[in-house]
Amino acid sequence: MNVSSRRPLGRVVLASGNAGKLREFAALFDPLEIELIPQGQLGVPEAPEPHGTFVENALEKARHASRLTGLPALADDSGLCVDALGGAPGVYSARYASLKGGEKSDAANNARLIAELRDHADRRACYVAVLVLVRSADDPRPLIGEGVWDGEIVDTPRGEHGFGYDPYFLLPDLGRTAAELAPAEKNAVSHRARALRELLAKLDGGAR
Ligand code: IMP
Repeated sequence: MNVSSRRPLGRVVLASGNAGKLREFAALFDPLEIELIPQGQLGVPEAPEPHGTFVENALEKARHASRLTGLPALADDSGLCVDALGGAPGVYSARYASLKGGEKSDAANNARLIAELRDHADRRACYVAVLVLVRSADDPRPLIGEGVWDGEIVDTPRGEHGFGYDPYFLLPDLGRTAAELAPAEKNAVSHRARALRELLAKLDGGAR
């Protein structure tokens, strides 16, 4: 990736507290000239995610982190969209089980996903990530990148890597689930990586 023509952003606050995402972002940003600081290290609490679209939630999180720190902020909102479930769990991916009274955990979310799909032969799904970068809290021109990663949901979990729905998310071309990919393999092709590439292309293209 060409970083030399990019206007340096310096320190950027990352508006996420999700440990799995923080690990992936740290690896994705390692080669870049951007110092990414998790918002938790700056005392920023999680922002609400009240909206029905990934982009609105990501924008809200980015503005919230930038407002509280005075720094440029990067936020992502992401989730799993399953065709046979009309795009669910979508923006509710992190709290899918708790919408039905279950606990807010990966295990409970995965159990609900598999239960909802019991009578469905169509297992197509995609991960979606929307990344939003604001240079200030009131930035009128947020930079936005979207990444989509296609797969299928399997009933039996496989793999030890990743987080969330990864053990159930099969990449048919690779014959492996996302949790069976080494972190570097996932980071080369994931929805987050694709979203980041789109956002960086805008920065490289001279967005300011
Ligand atoms: P949010 O973006 O913090 O609202 O939550 C995203 C949720 O989507 C996570 O808690 C996971 O349940 C799911 N998710 C997003 N990206 C991934 C991924 O790369 N692997 C597995 N689950 C993911």
